[in-house]
Amino acid sequence: MICREVKRVVYFFLDGSLGPNKKQDFDKHLKLCPDCDARTKLHERLRAFLKRRVTNLSSAAPDHLKTRLTRSIRAFRNEWSAR
Ligand SMILES: [Zn+2]
Repeated sequence: MICREVKRVVYFFLDGSLGPNKKQDFDKHLKLCPDCDARTKLHERLRAFLKRRVTNLSSAAPDHLKTRLTRSIRAFRNEWSAR
C-alpha cells in the first residue's frame, strides 16, 4: 500500500469497514511510515473528539461544555504541534 492509498481509505479503516487483506496492508504501512501513522491517529482522535462533543452537547450545561471544549481543543492542538 502507498501513502496516497492510505489517505484514501483511512475513514474506512476507522469505521472498521476495510476488508481483512486491506486492513493488514494498512497496518503494515503504518508500521513503516510514521507520517501515515501520525495522520491516522489524528483522524482517530478527531473522530473520538467529535463523538464526545455530540454526547456532551445533549447533556452538559453550556458554560461547563464551553470550558471543556476549549480545554480539549487546546490539548489536541498542543499534542499535534509537538510532533
Ligand atoms: Zn505512508
